[in-house]
Amino acid sequence: MTHQSIILGTGPAGLTAAVYLARANMNPLVIEGPEPGGQLTLTTEVENFPGFPDGIMGPELMDNMKKQAERFGAEFKRGWVTDVKVDQRPFKLSVDGLGELETQTLIISTGASAKLLEIPGEKENIGKGVSTCATCDGFFFRNKKVVIIGGGDSAMEEANFLTKFANEVQIVHRRTELRASKIMQDRAKVNEKITWALNKTPVEMISDGMKITGVKVKDSDSGVEEVIETDGIFVAIGHNPNTEFLNGQLDMDEKGYLIVEPGTTNTNIPGVFACGDVQDQNYRQAITAAGTGCMAAMDAERFLEGEAAIDWSQSLS
Ligand code: NAP
Repeated sequence: MTHQSIILGTGPAGLTAAVYLARANMNPLVIEGPEPGGQLTLTTEVENFPGFPDGIMGPELMDNMKKQAERFGAEFKRGWVTDVKVDQRPFKLSVDGLGELETQTLIISTGASAKLLEIPGEKENIGKGVSTCATCDGFFFRNKKVVIIGGGDSAMEEANFLTKFANEVQIVHRRTELRASKIMQDRAKVNEKITWALNKTPVEMISDGMKITGVKVKDSDSGVEEVIETDGIFVAIGHNPNTEFLNGQLDMDEKGYLIVEPGTTNTNIPGVFACGDVQDQNYRQAITAAGTGCMAAMDAERFLEGEAAIDWSQSLS
């Protein structure tokens, strides 16, 4: 059986595409990967998704989007995509647990994963004081002290953002030199609420069992360890787009983000569309991902309609 559309990924982009395609009677098959629901399932309360005046928990929001897509007939299956062939249509996918699949259109919404430090105390405290998203979680640290880890533009931008809430934001970076652009560095340096712990490599996140209380860092030269006390830790060391499985078959930038034609979700292969964080390293919000998911569904629908119209006109001639 050849599907009309397969969607890879179940973050806000993939699920919004599923709602739209299902409502258009295109019976999308949605493949849920290793992180069903995407990055929002790693956060607690989402307060900036329009339509929820009292906020909504991240996992609940994703669950609702899935139910909404299922209500209109989207089919969901768990699987790990190991290979994709997009050199001719129908496109072919090999999916662990599901075998070989064929589809006329493919929507890639596999997202990006925030890089983690992979140190003790980190993963188990996500949502309990450790966060990878200042925009999502900064609000919970009103009048507190937080630490932000990283020396790039994201760390500078998020540090400035966090000073709207926190009393003190300490930037912890493993080198004395920052990677961030000069303008972003300068903005952070003039902000009186920002303090610096440079040349310090984080080695452990410390909690009292309920919440984060500190981060243990090691001087990158002397190796001397100390604990920086804090109420929250924001890890801002970059993201990795989840595009490895494509083996370079689609146009990507040097970091592996998919390149789409501006104003559309078209990749360089007709019939393959990309939406959400896998093609966006700028906004990276649930609502922007959902918006591009809607675009991808409409692009896929119009693509198939365009082909049907050509077939029809040819049959008349
Ligand atoms: P990035 O530029 O790759 O910076 C990552 C930072 O995290 C670096 O300082 C790096 O340290 C540090 N780091 C990485 N792995 C680490 C580890 N295991 N332990 C400790 N520190 C670690 O990532 P980004 O800041 O997310 O920026 C990504 C891209 O988006 C950039 O092109 C950036 O310019 C752009 N961006 C732009 C804006 C803006 O203009 N408004 C805002 C955000 C992002 P080292 O420096 O030692 O390698």
